[in-house]
Amino acid sequence: MDYIALANLLFPDSTKTPEEIEKMFPERQLPKDACVTRIGPSPTGFVHLGNLYNAIIGERISHQSNGVFYLRIEDTDNKREVEGAVETLINAMNYFGVHFDEGAVADGDNGNYGPYRQRQRKEIYHVFAKQLTEMGLAYPCFLTAEEIDAIREEQTANKENPGIYGKYAEKSRSLTIEQIRENIENGMEWVLRFKGKETGEHICVDDAIRGKLEMPRNNMDFVLLKSDGIPTYHFAHVVDDHLMRSTHVVRGEEWISSLPMHYELFNTFGWKLPIYCHTATLMKIDNGGKRKLSKRKDPELALSYYQQEGISPDAIWEFLLTLLNSNYEEWRISNPDTSYLDFPYTIEKMNIAGALVDLDKLRDISKNVIGAMPAEKIYESWKEWCREYNTEYYDLLTKYPERTIAALNVGRNAKKPRKDLETWKQSCEFMSFYYDETLKICDEMPQECDEQTQKTFFTKYLETYDHNDDSNTWFEKVRAITDELGFAVRPKDYKNNPEQYKGSIVHITNMLRIALTGRANAPDIWEVSHVLGEEIVRGRISKFC
Ligand code: GLU
Repeated sequence: MDYIALANLLFPDSTKTPEEIEKMFPERQLPKDACVTRIGPSPTGFVHLGNLYNAIIGERISHQSNGVFYLRIEDTDNKREVEGAVETLINAMNYFGVHFDEGAVADGDNGNYGPYRQRQRKEIYHVFAKQLTEMGLAYPCFLTAEEIDAIREEQTANKENPGIYGKYAEKSRSLTIEQIRENIENGMEWVLRFKGKETGEHICVDDAIRGKLEMPRNNMDFVLLKSDGIPTYHFAHVVDDHLMRSTHVVRGEEWISSLPMHYELFNTFGWKLPIYCHTATLMKIDNGGKRKLSKRKDPELALSYYQQEGISPDAIWEFLLTLLNSNYEEWRISNPDTSYLDFPYTIEKMNIAGALVDLDKLRDISKNVIGAMPAEKIYESWKEWCREYNTEYYDLLTKYPERTIAALNVGRNAKKPRKDLETWKQSCEFMSFYYDETLKICDEMPQECDEQTQKTFFTKYLETYDHNDDSNTWFEKVRAITDELGFAVRPKDYKNNPEQYKGSIVHITNMLRIALTGRANAPDIWEVSHVLGEEIVRGRISKFC
């Protein structure tokens, strides 16, 4: 067979040489150990936690080493593509604070190694596909879907590996150039296949996370280009990661089984293999057992879930870093005030057993993260979230910046600072009592405080209320009214002799707290009153007189 003639027949429009393409993507000029890596998500509209998990690894190893981190859109499967998906993806990464040095941006590309959308690189792939054809290592295959189904059935019946290889490849491999030309002229669809070798050999790849991976060498005639001329993931991955000069490929462990194909292609072209980092699948505990997170059952697999819940990006980073590096939590305890970006992240400390996504743990981390933020930062981040997800609160926060920041400071200087806020969504709920517009009386007044008691107490309270009192003077006044109303000033007295009192000061302060905030469980009354201001305090209390 004249392979040059075959290559010209298959790729008449491909005129550039591999050398010309190589020149367009020169070696990067970077410090010696700098890592160049990327994420290569498919624009399906669904951005999952795994995308962020892998992105954080890539971002850390590249930026810690003064390398390059880029975004490549792997849109070779147009059946799965969804309108607006690239934008959704870029927005999500941006929301979670993942910054790319180069790659696809909403309206094009940023960087010298593009295009960064694979469909726009068709001509580049064709140059290398043509090269493989010229070398006699790739051939067109005209098998129909029905013929492939029949082969699969035969293989299942014979308990053989599925795929096109060995005798199953013979029909296509043995076509003459005349037959190929005739098929093409008759409009028959074809794919380009790689010529696999049946050697019985093994390959060994050093995975940065898993150590040595030993696997049988590829013997498959796998597809390089699909019938629309677009490459498969396998071919695009090898060509792009070579040309874009990736030093590391961080991707999910589901790709390990296709590694022999990638290895074969890198070797065939004589290109250096990148360092593979196959990450563990995200799991959760369900019914006492561990299982993979599922798109159908687990909303927390979608990154949008964390955006909608208003989990702060810092909390997600902390959470994913605890999953990613076994020594992160220890480091965090010894470095409580340092940014997580100062943590010396290492691939070697990654676990391979499956990363456990535990939302309770995330909430705990999130409480601590918000607990450690200055009130101004909480205000800004929360407001930013509200802008998109809760416009009622966006308006409130914009209208009352000082009150909100003062409210966020309540209980924060105590020995054990309050950690009431978990997410921005829950903050809207928790903070609602600070605004008349959203105040709701959620709890019932204590039984001990009947309507008459309420009226008398609140009337006297307002009579004696002086907004300038310090918290001791204020409390003395509450005690005096409590006593006057026949309630025990000391809870212990009431406990020992309940028949002598109508109730205790605990019931009184609960009643007061409910009148002021709508709930029995709220921060310190005196502090809250000073956030609200005298007018609001008097307004709320007088409703009960
Ligand atoms: N497009 C692949 C995916 O979404 C990317 C794998 C890779 O990073 O190479 O899984």
